[in-house]
Amino acid sequence: MVIYSEYTHAVDLQELHEQIRNCTKCPLHRHRKNAVPGEGGMKLGVMLVGEAPGAVEDEQGRPFVGPAGQLLTKSLSQLGVHREDVFITNVVKCRPPENRTPREDEVEACMPYLLKQIEILKPRRVVALGLVSAVALLRHMGRGVERLSDVRGRCFKGRIAGIELEVCVTYHPAAVLRNPKLRGEFQSDLAVFFGGGLERYF
Ligand code: SF4
Repeated sequence: MVIYSEYTHAVDLQELHEQIRNCTKCPLHRHRKNAVPGEGGMKLGVMLVGEAPGAVEDEQGRPFVGPAGQLLTKSLSQLGVHREDVFITNVVKCRPPENRTPREDEVEACMPYLLKQIEILKPRRVVALGLVSAVALLRHMGRGVERLSDVRGRCFKGRIAGIELEVCVTYHPAAVLRNPKLRGEFQSDLAVFFGGGLERYF
């Protein structure tokens, strides 16, 4: 029954997030205050995946709650999307020192958690926020990515962790904060990804 299945998934996810909070698989655990497994719902069947937690996220143990997160939340709400209705997480679940880009070995160590989240939550669409996320996700579809500009604003159909889904790529909201000129493209990407008008496949 659906209720039983949803309950089972909630328990699976809770257990997974407990593992993440206690994880010591890569050196990033030494610097964290809190691991940030992710949060939200699957009402829309969409996951948003960023790069890694920042200072505010590390403090609170919640994803996208700092300035970049506030921009993301506002951008979603302009589309009528409630933050609670999408599942928000990162490729790497612990904050890298000084907010540096996660290293390849850290991404590799942490990726199984994201794959498990995808397996449990079964999204129909995963929005990759920024290059690190796009590279990590599209690699699992057998697609190499070198520049964000090659894939930004596009969606790719494929299978990750046994789930048929679309990976759609846009900027990381922190990049939009740094360069407000990107705001228009970021907003229009999200409008397409949440509006269902997916004409931009390769
Ligand atoms: S970043 Fe990921 S792999 Fe590294 S310690 Fe945190 S949860 Fe574990």
